[in-house]
Amino acid sequence: MDAYSIPLAKPSITQDDIDAVTAVLRSGRLSIGPVVEQFESELAKVAGVKYAVCVNSGTSALELIVKALGIGEGDEVICPSFTFIASANCIVNAGATPVFVDIDPHTYCLDPKKIEADITNDTKAILAVDLFGRCANWTEIEQIAKHYELLVIEDACEAIGALHHGREAGSFGDAACFSFYPNKQITTGEGGVILTNNEQVRYQSVILRNQGRCGPEWLSHHYVGHNYRMTEMQAALGLSQLRRLNELIALRYDVMSLYNTILMNCADLILPIASNEMSPFVYVVQLSQQYDRKERDRIIEAMALRGIECRAYFPPIHRQPAYLTQSFFDDVHLPHTDSIADRTIALPFYPDLTDEEIGTVCLALQELL
Ligand SMILES: *Cc1c(COP(=O)(O)O)cnc(C)c1O
Repeated sequence: MDAYSIPLAKPSITQDDIDAVTAVLRSGRLSIGPVVEQFESELAKVAGVKYAVCVNSGTSALELIVKALGIGEGDEVICPSFTFIASANCIVNAGATPVFVDIDPHTYCLDPKKIEADITNDTKAILAVDLFGRCANWTEIEQIAKHYELLVIEDACEAIGALHHGREAGSFGDAACFSFYPNKQITTGEGGVILTNNEQVRYQSVILRNQGRCGPEWLSHHYVGHNYRMTEMQAALGLSQLRRLNELIALRYDVMSLYNTILMNCADLILPIASNEMSPFVYVVQLSQQYDRKERDRIIEAMALRGIECRAYFPPIHRQPAYLTQSFFDDVHLPHTDSIADRTIALPFYPDLTDEEIGTVCLALQELL
């Protein structure tokens, strides 16, 4: 039982999903098998790329992309701070330095106009995030990257099925990734995938996820790798979920639209701008400028007392305890990130959320404003 009567997120699991996982369990082949391969070939199609390499999380996918692209000590990578912490941890864990750039206040994604000021001789790559299921401004990011000869990483963990001017999320830059954590559009429990057209990234990822093995010899390791493999059960769940991707996105879109309709006239709220190219991931409202972080947190607590789970989304990475101690953030200047992150609230958001529940959430929120 959920502690909340209306939780923040909830996966949509059908009998077909359960049957697909059960079939793998009965087959006896639980890892390194045909189901992962089939899931990979379907995912490559969804992203419109040549190669997909499944791993055990979106975080693992980001780590392997950074390694496979040769990013490491001495390198700087431009990225947003208004995102999930894995978007920057993959850079720090490789020994490189994240350089935080501000967001566009309307899309919440990396602002291309702010990038050039932070490019130095050490800049190796730009990592942008398709935040909340909306694609970053890839047209401009790719132009800047080309001009300065920078690598590009697309963190599409929140955006499977989204588009940018008709091009698929997961197809931008040198490599991209999706996550299949239970709150994402489709889930495998834990899981992720690397997406790329770059043969070298594919090759390195396949080897590094499997303990650095590159031949048939099980105990011969040519590289210092990881065990980041996805199981056959996870892939079976993912394949089954993927069949409903369009349906699940449409349901999420309907939930977002109903929230926007009900809350439209609420002067204290800035609502997300709906776009039919989005693959809605979370529903995040922004309190107007007269609110501060304390009042926002008070509203989240008061919603919790009513059984409604909400969350501050996202506390910016440069203000995380883990990052406050790092020396490379002396001159971080992120006015939009700091201001917006203090006033955003994610409301309950998942395909099975009923109209009645949406009404309950909106009523509670409006009473608290
Ligand atoms: C979910 C998420 C990740 C990490 O994915 P996991 O599968 O949870 O490791 C990375 N980046 C962003 C933006 C995410 O939302």
